[in-house]
Amino acid sequence: MTIEENTKHIMMKVDAAKAVSPYPNQEVTVLAVTKYVDANLAREVVESGISNIAENRVELFLDKYRKLKDFDITWHLIGNLQRRKVKEVINLVDYFHALDSLKLAQEIEKRAEHKIKCFLEVNISGEESKHGFSIRALDQILLEFAQFSKIEIVGLMTMAPFEADEKECAQIFHDLKALQMKISEMKIPNVSCTELSMGMSRDYQVAIQEGATFVRIGHEFFRGIA
Ligand SMILES: *Cc1c(COP(=O)(O)O)cnc(C)c1O
Repeated sequence: MTIEENTKHIMMKVDAAKAVSPYPNQEVTVLAVTKYVDANLAREVVESGISNIAENRVELFLDKYRKLKDFDITWHLIGNLQRRKVKEVINLVDYFHALDSLKLAQEIEKRAEHKIKCFLEVNISGEESKHGFSIRALDQILLEFAQFSKIEIVGLMTMAPFEADEKECAQIFHDLKALQMKISEMKIPNVSCTELSMGMSRDYQVAIQEGATFVRIGHEFFRGIA
């Protein structure tokens, strides 16, 4: 297996899932999550044609960002961000996928030098151990996001519980899609909410069939390699 072969295989599976989804013309952006590998292997992913790179931790993000700065990459921070680390990283990020509190939004608003595209992380399954807004919490504070001129809420993000089977994943993704459409129709300033970041190596085909527009794929890029 090479990274190039893995990339081809992934793109075929993305196309196959799109074709049988209710949204065959939907654009789906494939993010390569490079947290398991060094910058050399991440570069191979970029050279295989993937231009969206994602990291879940600030240190790993900064390392890849510095080593790959000569490439034309769209950068995604997908993991939870501590407030004290916002200033180190936020202005390097094209998309932040794990906005999970108003306090974090306030810190981003303070530190951002341009408008940052953010996803609200939603904990659809209500698991206590998980990060993200519950549906009810989101309902109560959603209007507050209108006040942040440096944040565009481009969409919603979720992670299905580790132990969820395919059917449960599909239901979670389905519920997130419904919530995204509902919020989008509210026309809240700075909350366009047209996108859905959902699906990882094990469940991205299911996610695409439920309307994902960004899928976050790690392991599958490095199958047989790392
Ligand atoms: C690691 C990670 C992924 C990718 O997971 P894989 O199972 O390796 O595809 C996706 N999203 C987040 C938030 C992650 O931390």
